[in-house]
Amino acid sequence: MKHYKLFIDGKWVDALSGKTFESLNPATGEVNAVVAEAGREDVDLAVKAARKAFESGPWADMAPGDRGRLLYKVAQALWDKADMLAEVETRDNGLPINETKFIAMPAMIDVLEFYAGLANKVQGSTLASPNNRFNYTLKEPVGVVGAIVPWNFPLMLTMWKLAPALATGNTIVIKPAEQTPVSILEMVKIFQKVGIPDGVINVVPGFGRTAGDALSSHQDVDKITFTGSTNTGRLIMQAASKNLKPVSLELGGKSPNIVFDDANIENAVNGSMFGIFFAQGQVCASGTRLFVQEGIYDKFMDSFVKKAQSIRVGNPLDQTTQMGPQVSLQQLEKIQQYVSLGIEEGANLVIGGERNKDAGNGYFFTPTVFEDVTNEMTIAREEIFGPVLSVIRFKDEEDALRKANDTLYGLASGLWTNDLKRAHRMTRGLKAGTVYVNTFSMLDSAAPFGGRKQSGFGRELGIQAMDMYTETKNVWIDLSEEGLNWYGV
Ligand code: NAD
Repeated sequence: MKHYKLFIDGKWVDALSGKTFESLNPATGEVNAVVAEAGREDVDLAVKAARKAFESGPWADMAPGDRGRLLYKVAQALWDKADMLAEVETRDNGLPINETKFIAMPAMIDVLEFYAGLANKVQGSTLASPNNRFNYTLKEPVGVVGAIVPWNFPLMLTMWKLAPALATGNTIVIKPAEQTPVSILEMVKIFQKVGIPDGVINVVPGFGRTAGDALSSHQDVDKITFTGSTNTGRLIMQAASKNLKPVSLELGGKSPNIVFDDANIENAVNGSMFGIFFAQGQVCASGTRLFVQEGIYDKFMDSFVKKAQSIRVGNPLDQTTQMGPQVSLQQLEKIQQYVSLGIEEGANLVIGGERNKDAGNGYFFTPTVFEDVTNEMTIAREEIFGPVLSVIRFKDEEDALRKANDTLYGLASGLWTNDLKRAHRMTRGLKAGTVYVNTFSMLDSAAPFGGRKQSGFGRELGIQAMDMYTETKNVWIDLSEEGLNWYGV
């Protein structure tokens, strides 16, 4: 079992309180690591270190091109350690090793490379002005960024914040989720080894109500970037309002996935399975509400249910495992409560719905499908964050669009059709940050990702994210001889 400390100002330190907490391996329920638990005073020290590194010293003086080169070097070092990081993350949060190794790690490192390349492409603009005036904008880093991240893809979602923040010259304090601090601490060791200056990255593992709140309410943090649940997003906005720091929020979802009669059924079945069961259903964009058109309903569902039953649930370190454990006992119990609610409210439990004891002592659940769901049922309205699918029939395009948009969320949506015009009509009608056509849950470092409605605001990834980590400064220079003499005195 490993012990980890806080990472503040380039040093590995104990919490001032001396407190620690245990991080469990969800596949076994056993202790994976003991980690120093940051409290308010530690967060304060981390913010002070980040401020110091932002205001002066090697990072503040570094040319953007050099910053980019340094980030590229880190990316190279991360490739060298990618298999190790994948294994650490799998032990931390239970994602199958095939998903950490072949999806999460490469995607995470690609994000760093993407922003490393953008470090020297930050540009202000020169404004059209009369001859006696020069008016332009500068793009400057916002300062000290506070990043609060969840447990489902700890490294990847941290990198979505860390890479653009560093590429634009900010410094950062990261608060990992209490369930999964280990992979982030291992990654930071690599940044340190490659030569990121002290104080530029600080990591304060701990709990939301203490360390998380201390960071989001801190008077000297200039921006908060958060990924997590909608309820926590509300608390963070309130805390951030103390010094009116800007906030960006990537929150929950209840994404619709719509299969039309004219779709390629096999592709739609396979893609929809990925849409719901990838990462044990712990994906904010998961296609949790599956709308299937009447004409293909039976054929589609026969195939879907057969295939879903064949998913191999088990030890996430085993290369052949397709679904690992849920991240925690608390999460497992939450899923079980939603299954009971689904049954009580009249949905038809077709497969799954129970803990999978055969897979081991960890928090394993069985792929679960509910049919005869209506859009009004709780399982169709609230985010479950587990491998539980709610299937809803629909008649036509209008019916599908109305039901799909009838949700508090607006993160992602999917549709399966071979009709080009329908695809474009639906794409425009769906109220979501992302629309997948004939695919689901795809990611690309260049593709902006984020939500509408109660799924949050702001866009991560893509060139767009650079705006979240820069401030625009407008500069006016008077070139006239006479100057500004309004009073004529
Ligand atoms: P969560 O909101 O409970 O926790 C996320 C982070 O916030 C953790 O680090 C936690 O310690 C911290 N936190 C909790 N309370 C806090 C407080 N009062 N002040 C400050 N920080 C606090 O979410 P979770 O259960 O860890 O993650 C699952 C949720 O995240 C789901 O709702 C999911 O949809 C969402 N999510 C969204 C995206 C996205 O990009 N939109 C991606 C992944 C996960």
